Amino acid sequence: MSELFPMSERTRELDARLAAFMAAHVYPAETEFAEWDRDPARRWTIPPLLESLKSRARAEGLWNLFLPDPVHGAGLKNLEYARLAERMGRSLIASEIFNCSAPDTGNMEVLHQFGSAAQQTQWLNPLLEGEIRSAFAMTEPDVASSDATNIALPIVRSGDEYVITGRKWWTTGAGDPRCKILIVMGVTDPGADPHRRQSMVLVPMATPGVRVARALQVFGYDDAPHGHVELAFEDVRVPVGNLLHREGSGFEIAQARLGPGRIHHCMRLIGLAQRALEAMVERARHRVAFGRPLGDLGMAQEAIALSRCEIEQARLLTLQAAATLDAHGNKGAKDLIGMIKIVAPRMACAVLDRAMQLHGGGGLSQDHFLAQAYAGARSLRLADVPDEVHIAALARSMLKA
Ligand SMILES: Cc1cc2nc3c(=O)[nH]c(=O)nc-3n(C[C@H](O)[C@H](O)[C@H](O)COP(=O)(O)OP(=O)(O)OC[C@H]3O[C@@H](n4cnc5c(N)ncnc54)[C@H](O)[C@@H]3O)c2cc1C
Repeated sequence: MSELFPMSERTRELDARLAAFMAAHVYPAETEFAEWDRDPARRWTIPPLLESLKSRARAEGLWNLFLPDPVHGAGLKNLEYARLAERMGRSLIASEIFNCSAPDTGNMEVLHQFGSAAQQTQWLNPLLEGEIRSAFAMTEPDVASSDATNIALPIVRSGDEYVITGRKWWTTGAGDPRCKILIVMGVTDPGADPHRRQSMVLVPMATPGVRVARALQVFGYDDAPHGHVELAFEDVRVPVGNLLHREGSGFEIAQARLGPGRIHHCMRLIGLAQRALEAMVERARHRVAFGRPLGDLGMAQEAIALSRCEIEQARLLTLQAAATLDAHGNKGAKDLIGMIKIVAPRMACAVLDRAMQLHGGGGLSQDHFLAQAYAGARSLRLADVPDEVHIAALARSMLKA
């Protein structure tokens, strides 16, 4: 653990409680969740155990830890939350149990920062309570969506309503039966400056004309019951009161949403990679090939040692980004956020790949968490914004300086 960024008393206490909760309830539930998901009769439904673990976590005060607001959330700094997100990131099912999972966290931050009082009552409160889930629909199949100014879905004002027709895809979480609200980005003023064309509107999933067209898969994983879906909007009408913030602020909200959220993903990836490293060490100690434990082999030693170096590098960079975010805000931390978004998913992919290799055939199968974790880590080289876009932005920032 880093001496450069010592844990606060509060973080240490919360982390210990999270660790105990995960050992007692979360890791033991992983198999049941996986089996639930593999059962064709129960796919795209919610295991009752999930809701009961949520209630238990909430009763223990391990809830909404991500939100810096002390009234609605835990009031933690990014640097403090980094340690807790790392802990939760060790299990693919943990974050949701503590109401700290994407995309709800980013959506709650948006509603908290930009939502009107009425929007907060209707949507933020039930999200904070963990009663509903939400999704964020920005990416479109027909345009290069890593450039937000390309977003083209028309949002047309007609009297007291906005009318939306078109397609979104990769909308994470919109397959979940508990997903009740979408934050949809589209174009309200095609003639405006490219950064002022878009707006965001709240679209209840139950609105007539909203349809899940299909579930997308990442290397064969559809991540049911939350999913990543393609959405069709067919003459969808919502009241103008569903506009978030003001017309033309879509780009601004998207930028604000991605700051801390990106870091959360990185924190979780460090926890996931750390768990993979621990699994590698365990395997290398006990698995015997050609008369020797795998750990006696140079290749296993290299896999373990390199992974430890890379995880620690990424951890320090993430903590540095979190500390800078706390001290100087999104703008001041821009380069560091970009750096960790480049580094963390690549690091996690490299570590998970080594871990799968050391686990042999089983490492690629459903018997270990590694293959699904790899698919998730690989996705994070793309989700939010592709890492190449961060590379280009970071280089531009250096060249300009
Ligand atoms: C599992 C998963 C979950 C997702 N969840 C969501 C979600 O909930 N909501 C949502 O709206 N979207 C989501 N996305 C979509 C994701 O944000 C986009 O895929 C991403 O922003 C890239 O957009 P695109 O797919 O249109 O790729 P494009 O914009 O077509 O880009 C393709 C490639 O071109 C390269 N490239 C583009 N621009 C540059 C540049 N400036 N410099 C260098 N290289 C560049 C990159 O290699 C990039 O990957 C998710 C994606 C995945 C895989």
